[in-house]
Amino acid sequence: MALIDFHCHLDLYPDPAATAQKADDEGVYVLSVTTTPTAFVGTAALARPGSRIRTALGLHPELAALRRHELVLFKELLPKVDYVGEVGLDGSKPHKSTLNIQAEVLHEILDLCAASGGRTISLHSRGASEMLLDMLEFEPRAGRFVLHWFSTGQMTIERASRLGCWFSVGSSMLLSKSGREAVSAMPRDRILPETDGPFAMHNGIVREPGDQGRVYQAVAELWGCGSAEVEATMTRNFRRLVEASQRNSQERLPSNT
Ligand code: MN
Repeated sequence: MALIDFHCHLDLYPDPAATAQKADDEGVYVLSVTTTPTAFVGTAALARPGSRIRTALGLHPELAALRRHELVLFKELLPKVDYVGEVGLDGSKPHKSTLNIQAEVLHEILDLCAASGGRTISLHSRGASEMLLDMLEFEPRAGRFVLHWFSTGQMTIERASRLGCWFSVGSSMLLSKSGREAVSAMPRDRILPETDGPFAMHNGIVREPGDQGRVYQAVAELWGCGSAEVEATMTRNFRRLVEASQRNSQERLPSNT
């Protein structure tokens, strides 16, 4: 089975080195997202050369107000990465008061990505999905947008699809009716697996990177097909997105000739 986890916080597990090594041994394709630019270098070091782990440069919206000064470091590190995340907006009650600052930080990040040729970006959107889409619509050259745990209504999902967004979904999202309805509305050729580990739990146990492919089974029930078909579809989607990211990366490299 091809295990893919397009949004996982390897550096936030109790034993990051052991978790990364296990994921590597199991051959899981991991997008290892980070929450601050300061965390990037240490987190990137968890991925051994030749592993299937890719590290994304992030500045989480819940930390954006406190860590805004780290945008300097973000800018410095950006040329080294193909992937950006976790970034975005959080309009839920505890973070609503910083939403304006979050938007300024995200605007800067999207601007930097656009100015340096685009990136593949994993985005958080809790309580601010329409506002996030407004910002993405305004800066399409920032790259390819992957909406993580995008549990919103059908109209918003259709809007995101029209904007060309991708979606990463985990089996925790499928535990709720609203989450299942959201996943049903997503275009099947733009869905990827994620865990959001270690924040997502399964029977009281933290989900490990790749989550043993549980998301395939959960989505299969929704699509009314076998889990092998879901796995094949999501693996194909993943390859397409990675190829687009790599092509983009090649185009950015200064030519030697
Ligand atoms: Mn996350």
